[in-house]
Amino acid sequence: MDAMVGRTQSQTPLRLRLALYGVVQGVGFRPFVHRLATSCGLTGWVLNNGDGLVIEIQSTRERIDEFTARLESERPAAALILARESTWLVPDDAATFEIRHSESAAAPRTGILPDLATCPECLREITTPGERRHQYPFTNCTLCGPRFTIIEALPYDRARTTLRGFALCPACENEYQDPQDRRFHAQPIACPQCGPHLDTTLAEAAATLARGGIVALKGVGGFQLLTDARNAEAVAELRRRKHRDTKPFALMLPDVASVRAHCRLSEEEHRILTSPAAPIVLLEPIPGTDLAPNISDSSPFLGVMLPYSPLHHLLMRLCPYPLIATSGNLSGDPIAIDNTEARTRLGSIADLFVTHNRPIARSCDDSVVRVTAGKEQLLRRARGYAPLPIRVPSALPKVLAVGPHMKSTVAIACGHDVIVSQHLGDLDSLEARAAFERTIDDLCRLYHFTPDLIACDLHPDYYSTQWARATGKPVVAIQHHHAHAAACAAENDLRSPYLAVVWDGTGYGLDHTIWGGEFFAVHDNHFDRIAHLRPFRLPGGDAAVRQGWRAAAAIQHELGLDTTAPSIIRRMLEQNLNCPLTTSAGRLFDAVAALTGIARESTFEGQAAMLLECAARTTNDTTAYPLPLTETHADWGPLIHALLEDIAHAVPPPVIARRFHNALAQLILAAAQRTQLPNVVLTGGVFQNALLTATATSLLRDHHFTVHTHQRVPPNDGGISLGQAVLAAAPVLR
Ligand code: ZN
Ligand code: ZN
Ligand code: FE
Repeated sequence: MDAMVGRTQSQTPLRLRLALYGVVQGVGFRPFVHRLATSCGLTGWVLNNGDGLVIEIQSTRERIDEFTARLESERPAAALILARESTWLVPDDAATFEIRHSESAAAPRTGILPDLATCPECLREITTPGERRHQYPFTNCTLCGPRFTIIEALPYDRARTTLRGFALCPACENEYQDPQDRRFHAQPIACPQCGPHLDTTLAEAAATLARGGIVALKGVGGFQLLTDARNAEAVAELRRRKHRDTKPFALMLPDVASVRAHCRLSEEEHRILTSPAAPIVLLEPIPGTDLAPNISDSSPFLGVMLPYSPLHHLLMRLCPYPLIATSGNLSGDPIAIDNTEARTRLGSIADLFVTHNRPIARSCDDSVVRVTAGKEQLLRRARGYAPLPIRVPSALPKVLAVGPHMKSTVAIACGHDVIVSQHLGDLDSLEARAAFERTIDDLCRLYHFTPDLIACDLHPDYYSTQWARATGKPVVAIQHHHAHAAACAAENDLRSPYLAVVWDGTGYGLDHTIWGGEFFAVHDNHFDRIAHLRPFRLPGGDAAVRQGWRAAAAIQHELGLDTTAPSIIRRMLEQNLNCPLTTSAGRLFDAVAALTGIARESTFEGQAAMLLECAARTTNDTTAYPLPLTETHADWGPLIHALLEDIAHAVPPPVIARRFHNALAQLILAAAQRTQLPNVVLTGGVFQNALLTATATSLLRDHHFTVHTHQRVPPNDGGISLGQAVLAAAPVLR
């Protein structure tokens, strides 16, 4: 059966867009791509743009894979691919492969690459006695090393990086000037004679870790807190000092063998983990390993990364066991980057500081990736990805998009490119708000950008909205879910009309209620809210985000059923006190998780849904609860009745969870069939759920709909600024 599916899929034409960055212009790359594509029997085109090369190729999966493999192995000798991004698009009917005319860049924006993980050659040097850079933690070359986090201004050369204070020694100068050398024009080039140095020995750090202590390490994009991941007491102490209850910690494992010993690792996950971006990848843990249980007991996944800088490699050689590697901050605050600031802010957390004298120009957290239905999906876009531009179909005016409130990112639009900032986090604390403002200044300065227009969320109380209004510039307020839809469409090169299924936790609606279970028919730049989840009143509003039992009580109340909720909650519902109306799909997940007993509370948003998904994955039940689509809404009443019936009959919670997922997928299909638009977009934080995404996608495909999901920005609110930037061009709501 699976083989059959694989076969059918491999013969369906696919279209892949590749954006290549590095030395790819003026080195004969376009004719090479043309020859290679033709010899692989592909159609499509290749084009030089502002700072790289864009290729679109179309054929079967095998031929595309052959092309991408040979692109790397047979590339012109002088070419250097430093970063590449791929996006799967809808196939078209072009019959040839052509070289297209170059686009003229709208603004100077060349040269800012993301930070790249240590390359094999540099790793060899730092681990080989006798090499000039043996054990030198700031080793890098043109293929690897810091970029985004050291650049202070453009154009990119050493004098405008945080290494400008380090004059090159004669040996480094020679390498830097020699076109044959791997370090020819490597701006952050350094060696033990002339480069930055550590203020503490790594042996001391290793000894602290071995004792169960906590080390604050100045990494690439900010400070990290490290401790022995096998030591439950150390992990508990880190939680206590960091004020972090049960939210999972990320791990750094010494090598791929160690990853395989602790987690299941697919080929795609392996590729991402070892890529130059080197993000945290969410993996399924193997039970019964040496890891402390309190690392991730609230999540079914482990967030795992490999050492990505020479400093990390050298430290992990001294402690070749799993380490917690979490952002250097108090929960909710931005990551610290400055030595003095870090000592103040992290002084009560760390037992030892490992600092150095290479300044960090801007903070950049570790990125988080999950492989969903075989595809890379970003959950947090920062180190290794930011600030690569996202290409969009239409040229945009000069817009600054200030994003939402949670999982904040900001973006600037230059022509066909949108530069989305690194993940900034929630804008609750003063520090987070300062970081938000700093990032806007930083992006504008770096890209010589002055916005004509500011795009923000429709929510009047978001800090970002208030900031936008206070600038005095023209402001376009974009409805939250409309922005989600536009972001997904933009990165998939999809033009309207399309159906957008936008499901998340919360977003301000046109009617001033909380939306989050939306079906939009999108035409040009406006949307029709063709259907939504049946609304219910949520006692305590935002307080319910971490207390799923409140949503459960609300739904039971709405259906006239008894609830076991405390009397104060019942009174709130009966008297409609502080019970905002919502259509949130996220809260429906919370309610179902609470009713089934899978999760009555969450320690972070989305935790209940994650546990529900993982329970559902353990069964193959194909039954779906009834979830009828009426004229205006999806009525979860019959679903809840059937679900409670199952609970009364002691049906196992995983089966109930599966039937709930199946019902949602069927609902999406029903909406698509009613709307009759061939293209369907799935977006919003709920679609971080791989089971729901995969089930809905395959149902829709069986009925000949084309499905679009996020690839380059997260489906959660981290993608909102992209959507805002795209929509601001055609003002719809002010
Ligand atoms: Zn290197
Ligand atoms: Zn040197
Ligand atoms: Fe959202």
